Amino acid sequence: MDIMSMSIEQLRERLAEAGQPAYRAKQLYEWMHVRLAASYDEMTNLPKALRERFAAEWPLTVHEKVVVLESEIDGTRKYLFRLADGNVIESVWMKYHHGNSVCISSQVGCRMGCSFCASTIGGLVRNLEPSEMLGQIYAIQRDTGERVDNVVVMGTGEPLDNYDNLLIFLNMLTDENGLHISQRNVTVSTCGLVPKLRELADEKLAITAAISLHAPNDELRKKLMPVANAYSVKELLDAADYYVAVTGRRITFEYSLIDGVNDTDACARELAALLRSRNCHVNLIPVNPVRERNYRRSLVTNVLQFQKKLENEGINVTIRRELGSDIDAACGQLRRHYEARVGSEGGEG
Ligand code: SAH
Repeated sequence: MDIMSMSIEQLRERLAEAGQPAYRAKQLYEWMHVRLAASYDEMTNLPKALRERFAAEWPLTVHEKVVVLESEIDGTRKYLFRLADGNVIESVWMKYHHGNSVCISSQVGCRMGCSFCASTIGGLVRNLEPSEMLGQIYAIQRDTGERVDNVVVMGTGEPLDNYDNLLIFLNMLTDENGLHISQRNVTVSTCGLVPKLRELADEKLAITAAISLHAPNDELRKKLMPVANAYSVKELLDAADYYVAVTGRRITFEYSLIDGVNDTDACARELAALLRSRNCHVNLIPVNPVRERNYRRSLVTNVLQFQKKLENEGINVTIRRELGSDIDAACGQLRRHYEARVGSEGGEG
């Protein structure tokens, strides 16, 4: 395990093996996870010889910033980071009136195969380590000089497909010895891996679960999301109910609107019937057209009508505010376009 994915206890053991006193664990942990040191050189209360030794033996997970795109409209920033093994991942920084949010990736690529999503086109490359999820937030906080208030795990990857690392990450992110972001300010978005969603409920964290529903019935959902072949809408909603019952947290359903596919009047009625009695919030996302796919986003009038129909049934609905519309917007597009470019130039790929 890399040094930045370790708990303080694990660090203590590692340091003891290296003949170091226990108090060094806390020092080191604080440099890595509170002060966000980008190198051992910054850790000035550690003896120089020790810093050199640690640097050689236990490299820090520090993401290299490859591309930053900043929206001229709203200041949203998209980051492309290079990992130690050469893979690239993307993260987004958004400014809201209630604070700064970072959207992070949980995997390099994704194997869920949703038909409207750019992140999954090249399949799954590998899981991210806990430190590689944290590293996105740390790099952005260092770069902007502003505190990150909210974290959403909604970038590339299916977080519940990288469950063990996700849990370590969540614990470290919200732990009082680290950045100490409130669990209430963390959202994990899933395409609906039902058994894992139930496991997550049993962790009894105060985080928000967001479920990518995108269709009100199995037939349509199967056309959009292969995961619907494994779990029915009913099983998914049962797991959502379980999450609410166990954690007391309201759940969010995400619904990306695709013109003529899932934005019809019949879909709105069917969705309303499903969610009417549930303690939930619906987030409508006009689909981001992906170059490699032929979906079109719903017309603004349809989006508003869809919202109205749900609201008429007493359902709480918001339309995702579009941020950074002037920069590569859809999930996974920045990475894809970067890799396509590097690949065609015969670069490192
Ligand atoms: N794998 C997780 C998180 C990643 S995607 C999940 O499925 O929830 C975050 C959200 O963006 C999901 O709701 C996803 O379905 C949606 N999404 C992906 N591509 C999109 C696109 N092109 N337009 C609109 N929403 C998209």
